[in-house]
Amino acid sequence: KKITIAIDGFSSTGKSTLAKQLAKELGYVYVDTGAMYRAIALFAMQNGYIKEDFFDKEGLVASLPTIRLQFKFNPDLGFAEMYLNEVNVEKEIRTIEVSRFVSKVAELSDVRAKLVEQQKEMGKNKGIVMDGRDIGTVVFPDAELKIFMTASAATRAQRRYDELIQKGDSVTFEEVLKNVEERDYIDTHRSNSPLVKAEDAVEIDNSHLTREEQFKAVLELIDE
Ligand code: C5P
Repeated sequence: KKITIAIDGFSSTGKSTLAKQLAKELGYVYVDTGAMYRAIALFAMQNGYIKEDFFDKEGLVASLPTIRLQFKFNPDLGFAEMYLNEVNVEKEIRTIEVSRFVSKVAELSDVRAKLVEQQKEMGKNKGIVMDGRDIGTVVFPDAELKIFMTASAATRAQRRYDELIQKGDSVTFEEVLKNVEERDYIDTHRSNSPLVKAEDAVEIDNSHLTREEQFKAVLELIDE
């Protein structure tokens, strides 16, 4: 029987790696909700609604109906890529600039309402693995399996730093650590759907787990 799997947790805890592994193993659809928030942040940047010390919230909210987000499966990669108004933005949404603004955009209740609605719609068919911050609490409170992932900030910053350097981004470890800590703060303190572990979620701290160990542990939960 196919189920709904909700994976939540702090940034760079390896949620998407685990979610992709699970989707592949089980033949499920994988949805990265962070990509959707990132695409809205990219839209806000491209249209001048957000800059260093400037954020035109009303302007962004007013233009939300013009934003179309889609996931299109790329068979070469084995997962779906994010499209913003028919343009593939998979690369653009992963930059440190987008990471700097995304939590501010994700604080807006109109943004959350739009994305949560779309996410619930995608979950109407079982056999889905969705990762984010509010999946087990808000999007799928009835999910059969909920996982809450944690790891120390230093461990997470190191992972994100390695990823960005590999992609040729010129960042320092300190910048990445600061960004991870800032996002943790905003994500846990916002008034709309703050990041919290759902009561019935299983917590996994993977600071000292390999990908394989973590994957095995979760597969055992599904077999139960
Ligand atoms: O998962 P990822 O790091 O790509 O998410 C980027 C940001 O989007 C998070 O730091 C958070 O502010 C926001 N987000 C959210 N709710 C989700 C997924 C992401 O608020 N379900």
